[in-house]
Amino acid sequence: MIDSHCHIDLYPDPQMVANDCESRGLCVLSVTTTPSAWSGTAALASGSSRIKTALGLHPQLAHQRKSELPLFEQLLIDAHYVGEIGLDGAPEFRQHWNDQVLVFTRILDACKKAGGRVMSIHSRRAASAVLDHLEERPGVGTPILHWFSGSQSELERAVAYGCWFSVGPAMLVGEKGRRLAARMPRDRILTESDGPFARVDGRSALPWDVERAVGCLSDIWNEPAKSVEALLHNNVMRLASS
Ligand code: MN
Repeated sequence: MIDSHCHIDLYPDPQMVANDCESRGLCVLSVTTTPSAWSGTAALASGSSRIKTALGLHPQLAHQRKSELPLFEQLLIDAHYVGEIGLDGAPEFRQHWNDQVLVFTRILDACKKAGGRVMSIHSRRAASAVLDHLEERPGVGTPILHWFSGSQSELERAVAYGCWFSVGPAMLVGEKGRRLAARMPRDRILTESDGPFARVDGRSALPWDVERAVGCLSDIWNEPAKSVEALLHNNVMRLASS
């Protein structure tokens, strides 16, 4: 199973979650929300070859953490994966929009300069703006739009650009999320938990809850869960070698 967007460092007992992922054989992209969290979060995965740590600066923290951009640029040399980054256009974060754009574009410029990165990107109420900034920077890398919630036309634009998508159980319980997932290219889909922020059954999602997302995809595609898992595995291998 694959969890391509999880905040392992934000669980009450992060090492236990990391160990559990390893013993269950999960492939995880462990995303961070600040550059200063990167080395501690990478250390959680030191015993695992299946957990990759991504260097991030979350858009909701951009205004508080923009001073960490130089640290981001320094750490990027050794970080092969980037996330969580992006833009958030929801009303409560809209007031910090300029800081979000400053942080996101500096990160994209750094990724381009570094030769491109796989990036897990947040685009809530900001999908068009995220795509504008990506399109302005050929060679920036491979974007994975996590928990995509834009319009059908934004989805078409993202697909045409070459975006990947990570979908989780919380997204796929709703009709809108399922409709979007049905239109995503099957060879560019991954599963995610977005734990501990995303919730399932009234509790924080855990990485292995991606099994539910596999079940939802199996339902949406009318394919056996085993073939969905094989396809997702194939996708993650292709992405890792890109
Ligand atoms: Mn997240």
